[in-house]
Amino acid sequence: MLRAPFLYLSRRRGLQRFVTRQKLTARLAYRFVAGDRLEDAVRVVKEVNARGLTASLDHLGENVTEERAAGAATEDYLAAFERIATERLDANVSVKLTQLGLDISPDLCRALLERILARARQLDNFVRIDMEGSAYTQRTLDLVLALHEKYPNCGVVLQSYLFRTLEDVQRVNALGVRVRLVKGAYDEPPSIAYPKKSDVDACYEKAMRELVLHGVYPAIATHDDRLIEATRAFAREHGISGDRFEFQLLFGIRRDLQERLRKDGYRVRIYVPYGTEWYPYLMRRLAERPANLLFFVRSVLRERRAA
Ligand SMILES: Cc1cc2nc3c(=O)[nH]c(=O)nc-3n(C[C@H](O)[C@H](O)[C@H](O)COP(=O)(O)OP(=O)(O)OC[C@H]3O[C@@H](n4cnc5c(N)ncnc54)[C@H](O)[C@@H]3O)c2cc1C
Repeated sequence: MLRAPFLYLSRRRGLQRFVTRQKLTARLAYRFVAGDRLEDAVRVVKEVNARGLTASLDHLGENVTEERAAGAATEDYLAAFERIATERLDANVSVKLTQLGLDISPDLCRALLERILARARQLDNFVRIDMEGSAYTQRTLDLVLALHEKYPNCGVVLQSYLFRTLEDVQRVNALGVRVRLVKGAYDEPPSIAYPKKSDVDACYEKAMRELVLHGVYPAIATHDDRLIEATRAFAREHGISGDRFEFQLLFGIRRDLQERLRKDGYRVRIYVPYGTEWYPYLMRRLAERPANLLFFVRSVLRERRAA
């Protein structure tokens, strides 16, 4: 019920400056975000790697409106790849196209993405293109599929709340492009997306089956125990070994599940966001689970009473 208000707030950029300056909301954000700087992300990735898990670094930022900001984001990603290489981290990178200027100019976005992909390829690394709201779905797929032949080291994300996703899975599988499957984190109208969670989950399961059976090293990105169990059972039934796919989870969420999957011998990648532009990311995490806010408020009140 509270999903829609949080997603509405995620788009109110006027609030962003106010909220990000508050110490209390910053504390809440750092439950889901590694910290402000690349240094913070590197520290978290080292911890993640030491626990036997891999990572994907996301330098937070989206819907940039200035060419300079898109260029700066590109430099940040190039710096992240250098650190991954010099520190020998087991990590790749996740990028949003609107952070590379898709709203400003598709040509600019493509040129910046190519710079990142070219450097990643030299370093034998991989770039995941995150999927944003439905206004960007087709453009994101078109760009990634166009670049994939030249840069096979890039992959897409498909969202099971969209009606179109099962068809996209077929198309992307046929081209051998790596997919991360998610439920979808944006506010979409019922004309294009399932409003009911049970339908989103059913679509997720169908897409998961197609990907595990016919996809190239798919990433099953969810914290949903039932869908994770369905994936494990499906792979077992079809004799598909655990090294043919990976599970992905978000930093700060369900650490118990991360550990359990690793102990059971599965590959697990943790999505590690960092940077100061955490406002929309935090709002989406609250939309997924509004109780996060309640738990946080309770823990702050407890601390204050104890002080
Ligand atoms: C690695 C990764 C990358 C992603 N990339 C994208 C992307 O590119 N585009 C996109 O649209 N979406 C992306 N998402 C977000 C995704 O679409 C969902 O919004 C998010 O994963 C929550 O859905 P769920 O699959 O965990 O299932 P849900 O049914 O939402 O949750 C299942 C259980 O997981 C736990 N949980 C879920 N969310 C939270 C939370 N915020 N805080 C605490 N516990 C929680 C709860 O225990 C809940 O009962 C990504 C998710 C992951 C894991």
